[in-house]
Amino acid sequence: MAGFLLMGDARSRWRNTNGFAIEASFLRAFTSLGGQSRLGSAITPGLFAGDTLHQYFNHGRLDVPGPSQPFKVGVPRLAKLGVSMATAVSATSPGRTDGNFAEPWADESKRAIAGQLVGGPVQWRGWQMQFFEREVVRLLERSPGEYYPYPGHVGDLFTSLTPDERARGEGHEAPIERPNSPGLIDVHVPILTYHLTRGAEAFRSQLQGLLDRGLVPVSFEQLVAAVEGWAAIPAKAFVVSFDDGWLIQLDEAVRVLEELRVPSVFFVMPGFDRHQQGHMSTDDLLALRRSGATVASHTLNHADLTALLRGNLGAAQAEVIESREQIESSVDGVDFFAYPLGLFDEGAARLVQAAGYRAAVTTQPGIVHRQDRLFEMRRISVQAWWPVGDVVREIRLAARVDRVESPV
Ligand SMILES: [Zn+2]
Repeated sequence: MAGFLLMGDARSRWRNTNGFAIEASFLRAFTSLGGQSRLGSAITPGLFAGDTLHQYFNHGRLDVPGPSQPFKVGVPRLAKLGVSMATAVSATSPGRTDGNFAEPWADESKRAIAGQLVGGPVQWRGWQMQFFEREVVRLLERSPGEYYPYPGHVGDLFTSLTPDERARGEGHEAPIERPNSPGLIDVHVPILTYHLTRGAEAFRSQLQGLLDRGLVPVSFEQLVAAVEGWAAIPAKAFVVSFDDGWLIQLDEAVRVLEELRVPSVFFVMPGFDRHQQGHMSTDDLLALRRSGATVASHTLNHADLTALLRGNLGAAQAEVIESREQIESSVDGVDFFAYPLGLFDEGAARLVQAAGYRAAVTTQPGIVHRQDRLFEMRRISVQAWWPVGDVVREIRLAARVDRVESPV
């Protein structure tokens, strides 16, 4: 019986909305800054939601490379960004009501893109404006006392929010449709798995070494989207993942990841800090998310799902479903899962898939990913303090397991 509770369609979370207007805004920024030739890897429409958009800004594609550039963008699910924006700025004074904010959207098709009106007019940073779900209209002064409505891009405004303002707008889920391709494409991308760190220095020099060898860090979401068959991925891409939610990761690794602009995914156990063994608390998970990392589930109790499935289906379901619910109570959008101890079988993979995750990672070595193996993705175990040569060696070994060429 309980099994049927799991059967919701995962993709229903992403249906019936689109992120067109926001994508247009970011594409414009991408193009105006030199596009692919100057900024590197292509932007794939549809990836401007959630983590990847966040990391795109946070980790350096839309600005000049270098660790000092700003673009700290804490991004909730974005297709209805206007809702978040309106929430973020609503603490300021109400706006005037004598302008016809809806005039630019009199056309039915434009109205469809802009979405529903969100709240009433607001005044923010000297602007009179009205948010729609996916757009914003500002009143511009034509002459003293005479205003006209001017349509704008809510994404542009979003990038100018302060961290406090962004925090106020967080928590509004705004799903985006993700196309799915039936094709089975092999995607060759090493996913590195880290656990503990021994100081930021060693990790920094290792990571810098990988970047110096031409490897290109991508978000885990971008890899999954590429495996799903609808996103581009750069040559020599690699993914950084951290397991077990150790607090020291936040103290030592996140700093380096931010500095070097390397996207990352952290598989955590929510609430595990009660064991007082140095794990992240709920607040820590929020800080992790704000740093730009993808936060994903590693169950509640680091459970062996294969054993639980044999003895206690309800407990296994709780580990998979409640872990996500608990993480999502403070962090938006948990789509990915890592099997504790790397232990999985067909039943465990089915359970994770039925619970609505998009992908799950194992500890089996390899670098080749395919759509029919999205719930048993291979990873490469490494240590954060190793010299870079040791990591390169492990990547080559994993490539050999899959009988493909190593990217490095
Ligand atoms: Zn673990």
